[in-house]
Amino acid sequence: MDTTAIQRALVALGYSLAVDGMMGPKTRIAVQTFQRGAGLAADGIVGTLTVAALQSAASKRGAGQPATKGQHLPADWMPAARMKRIVVHWTAGAHRASGLDRRHYHILIEGDGKLVRGIPSIDLNDAREVKPGYAAHTLSCNTGSIGVSLCCMAGAVESPFNAGEAPMTRSQWEALPRVLADLCRRYGISVTPRTVLSHAEVQGTLGIKQKGKWDISRLAFDQTVRGAQACGDLFRAGTASLLAT
Ligand SMILES: [Zn+2]
Repeated sequence: MDTTAIQRALVALGYSLAVDGMMGPKTRIAVQTFQRGAGLAADGIVGTLTVAALQSAASKRGAGQPATKGQHLPADWMPAARMKRIVVHWTAGAHRASGLDRRHYHILIEGDGKLVRGIPSIDLNDAREVKPGYAAHTLSCNTGSIGVSLCCMAGAVESPFNAGEAPMTRSQWEALPRVLADLCRRYGISVTPRTVLSHAEVQGTLGIKQKGKWDISRLAFDQTVRGAQACGDLFRAGTASLLAT
């Protein structure tokens, strides 16, 4: 695969870069982000494994067609509301969304990447006033906050790390930026560490005390990524690149 072909494949996957045949910084960052998402070493070097992963991902996208601005979330899942931020969680449950899971979050991503709507509607967490039945997903930080959760990590242990019976899958992790990009567009939320963040980042970044929450500070399928900020930076980069296309 030459650099132009690599760039075409990355653009088809939703990364924002110019197809100019040159391996510049934007291309290298896109390669690294792709590699992390694919569970490969994020060295920015397009070797055999990365080529295979790129080709398989691009063919899944449909014959190398550029990613559309297509919305992934149905419009009625995103009613009018004033929303300030998105907090990303895992459910600490199974790969399928249970009734309990659906009560706590607005949007859930199941183990195979399938999107499930939570029971509370996003507008119940409106920044002007939360309404009865709102999604209680983040302690003292639900007003104006959309809760998105990956269905996974039942029985997981933080240290020493054990991903438990329902480890986070690459499919749900890859679906996350697409969901976040839809929500950012719909509600005019910009992608910053204060506005698109994981539950594990809330205490450190916003200064709102949580009870030892570590979702999301590990990726079960890529143990080289460690820490809430490293994980958050990955989904922010993925979201920002989708928004830039
Ligand atoms: Zn959480």
